[in-house]
Amino acid sequence: MAKGNEAYDIWWHKAEAVEKKAAFDFCGDYLAFLDSCKTEREVTAYTVALLEKNQFKPLDKILTGAKNQAGSCLLQPGDKVYLDVRGKAVLAAIIGKEPAAQGVNAVASHIDSPRLDFKQTPFYEDTYMVLAKTHYYGGIKKYQWVCLPLALHGVVFLKDGGKVEINIGEKEGEPCFVITDLLPHLAQKQMEKKVAEAITGEGLNVLLGSLPAEKAGGEDNEKDEGEKDEKECGQLVKANLMRILKETYGIEERDFVSAEIEVVPAQPARDVGFDRSLIGGYGQDDRVCSYAALKALLDIEGIPQKTAVLYFSDKEEVGSQGNTGAQSANLGNFLAELCAATTESYNDLMARRCYAASHLLSADVAAAVDPNYKDVQDPLNANYIGKGMVLEKYTGARGKNGGNDANPEFIAALRQLFDGEEIAWQTGELGKVDLGGGGTVAAFMANMGMQVIDCGVPMLSMHSPFEIVSKGDIYNTYKAYKAFLQSYK
Ligand SMILES: [Zn+2]
Repeated sequence: MAKGNEAYDIWWHKAEAVEKKAAFDFCGDYLAFLDSCKTEREVTAYTVALLEKNQFKPLDKILTGAKNQAGSCLLQPGDKVYLDVRGKAVLAAIIGKEPAAQGVNAVASHIDSPRLDFKQTPFYEDTYMVLAKTHYYGGIKKYQWVCLPLALHGVVFLKDGGKVEINIGEKEGEPCFVITDLLPHLAQKQMEKKVAEAITGEGLNVLLGSLPAEKAGGEDNEKDEGEKDEKECGQLVKANLMRILKETYGIEERDFVSAEIEVVPAQPARDVGFDRSLIGGYGQDDRVCSYAALKALLDIEGIPQKTAVLYFSDKEEVGSQGNTGAQSANLGNFLAELCAATTESYNDLMARRCYAASHLLSADVAAAVDPNYKDVQDPLNANYIGKGMVLEKYTGARGKNGGNDANPEFIAALRQLFDGEEIAWQTGELGKVDLGGGGTVAAFMANMGMQVIDCGVPMLSMHSPFEIVSKGDIYNTYKAYKAFLQSYK
């Protein structure tokens, strides 16, 4: 570490040039990852493809094809496996030298992000335009979603089980979509409202088109029933949209009942600042930690002592419920499978002992001090852009409620590990005590008996369509996750 101005206690000031370059290089592929992964399904597909490329094998197929051979284990140290959970969550592991039942080292992040979801009956025509109703997902500030180019990402499942993927609004030459806002000239009443009420949830309707269907001609009897109905009701613009959807995707209005269409910001992730030290983009909560964790797993050298586990969960932004969320049995079941596959005589106690002996980094972003809003932070216990990865002993709100509170024994061991590897880390909490708070997946794993701490990248403009992080913090977070998965004892 180079000597510098002591007051400049940020990683950039202390790091060697070669390390700074490594941080910039590490983030090279990260921008492309953000652009191709704007939904939990897209992150899952990207991750599975990358794992396959790196010799990870699907655990469910290994188990299905397994013959019970006495005296041999299904998985050996160094084996790499993964599990795709319903296309929306992923678990992966590198089997360590010790049996999994003696505990694993895991990094868990979430791959869902705040957005707007199409309702199941979304389309309506009004004022010669066709729009889609949405229901927002996760904690958004609604005013940030108007007058912003939007893209549609998602899947539609047809009645016969067929799957249609939709991804429109991102590529050059493609149209985008938008939610309109009131002109200032007529917004006198709106401007007097609280910010939280100025834009309503039911007002987040996405503009999809304005062209009416062609006038009914001789070939009218060839049109499908749905389109005829719209025309008879005088909804010519909606009828035209239905025609386009039918022609482009082979889908009909009723098919959206079994669809998940996510409305996300259409702009790409970008370098920010003259010095390009920051990255701005949508969905970095929590894909920045997910990306760092994935790279950390792939970069493990040799066979780790303890089994290294990666967990990408869904539904964190709405409370982690459901069969793809971190409150599900998914992690417990995966670890039980690893225990069973690394022993000759499995019993249920082994999985329980594995949980209690495991250590997990809950990899999620932290609020960084924003120079425009410094008053929401306690400066002694705040996280700063450029100071490295954040270790948060506790989260929660109104008196630490709902969060995890890590044990100091675990924190002490992590200090030793991270300092030994010269990893820049800082510690802080989520703002002033009485101003709010929050929590993430940490508590659910801690409930299983694991040692867990929140640990991730500090961020500005969290949950906005354009979240900001520092390249130096991403790089140090990656190094911390890697050191932990590789060698935490
Ligand atoms: Zn998060």
